[in-house]
Amino acid sequence: MSPAVVVGGGPAGAATALLLARAGHPVVLFERHARATDKICGEFLSGEACRHLAALGVDLGALGGERIHALRLVRDGRKVETDLPFPAFGLSRRVLDEALLARAAAAGATLRRGEAILRAAPQAGTAIALTGTDGKTTCRTGALFLATGKHDLRGMRRPLPGHPDDLVGFKLHYRLAPAQRQALRRHVEVILFREGYAGLQPVEADRANLCLLVRRGWLTRAGGTWDALLPALRHASRHLDARLDGAVPLFEPPLTICRVPYGYLHAPSAADPAALWRLGDQAAVIPSFTGDGMAIALHSAALAARMFLAGQAAAAYHRQLRADLAMPVGRAMALYCLGRGRTGQSAIMLAASLFPSVLRRAAALTRVPEEATVRLLPQSS
Ligand SMILES: Cc1cc2nc3c(=O)[nH]c(=O)nc-3n(C[C@H](O)[C@H](O)[C@H](O)COP(=O)(O)OP(=O)(O)OC[C@H]3O[C@@H](n4cnc5c(N)ncnc54)[C@H](O)[C@@H]3O)c2cc1C
Repeated sequence: MSPAVVVGGGPAGAATALLLARAGHPVVLFERHARATDKICGEFLSGEACRHLAALGVDLGALGGERIHALRLVRDGRKVETDLPFPAFGLSRRVLDEALLARAAAAGATLRRGEAILRAAPQAGTAIALTGTDGKTTCRTGALFLATGKHDLRGMRRPLPGHPDDLVGFKLHYRLAPAQRQALRRHVEVILFREGYAGLQPVEADRANLCLLVRRGWLTRAGGTWDALLPALRHASRHLDARLDGAVPLFEPPLTICRVPYGYLHAPSAADPAALWRLGDQAAVIPSFTGDGMAIALHSAALAARMFLAGQAAAAYHRQLRADLAMPVGRAMALYCLGRGRTGQSAIMLAASLFPSVLRRAAALTRVPEEATVRLLPQSS
């Protein structure tokens, strides 16, 4: 049996390597980072993500994950709060990704850490050749699981339609002042402000993760620096200002991201190489405010591993994944577009204040559908 190759050791790639190795299939995973690293993410693990992780043997509580029970939406000093319709956790990507990679290695996957793949090229027949950063062919495979997240591999770029949004994202961990830490406990907060929003929630070891997205204009007006942008954002949101009063940043500078292709959903085409399986953000990108990107990454891993091991074609997998994700991604995009302007934000806030259950409903409607999860994790039914 020739080894399957996974490129990328985030949730999608690590989970796929773990599932293939667990089934006794040889698998090699390339991850460009040699060691654990922080990654830009809100670090909110939704109900489906938690279920997939439990099935993979990852104990979020034992890793120090913080239980999240409620969602708090904040804008202009007004707050609306509701219980989440599912159990959730806050855990840093530094810890989560390493836990998954360690489990994949323990199951028998070969990890090649610190090795980036530069390019992939279809060969005669169905094989794909991978080239490392030294320009030499690293390996050839009949099954390439592409899990490089937002980074496209040369030769295998996603066919992204149009121009991505002009949002710029920042992520930073803080040690909050004790009263603020207590006020945030068990909550994920979504703080809306003009042309952007912030997500704030506890993660392990008494840390709080701040992940925010703003239109590029914010950054331009702040002279392009975080040091000027943060005070401007704190000025725009009294709630954010209060939360960060006395807080200590735990690493600097913040991680940044831009040009995220929200709404992307891979449409299989006859031109796709037969040996290529796109996973996670390489297959679908749901708006970040849903906190469901990791659930989608884990769902794609479970589906791809199952269909590959059953001898099914990559094209059938891509069709099934698209069918599973079309509704949550479509609904999340509709909400995302509504929340972009002040009027839309006001409407969301008003609806949530009058009927807090609207927030629970919105959270439920932007998840991977229950029936699709149950197909992969029957014990969860
Ligand atoms: C601002 C923001 C906030 C978010 N918040 C949340 C949230 O709270 N909850 C949630 O569930 N989702 C969230 N998401 C989405 C989530 O982060 C992604 O959907 C998820 O990380 C996708 O997992 P992945 O495994 O596909 O890719 P990634 O997690 O991006 O992993 C890709 C891996 O591939 C490696 N890699 C890349 N290129 C190469 C290469 N050429 N060779 C070798 N290795 C390579 C990288 O080092 C990385 O380890 C957020 C996204 C953004 C942008």
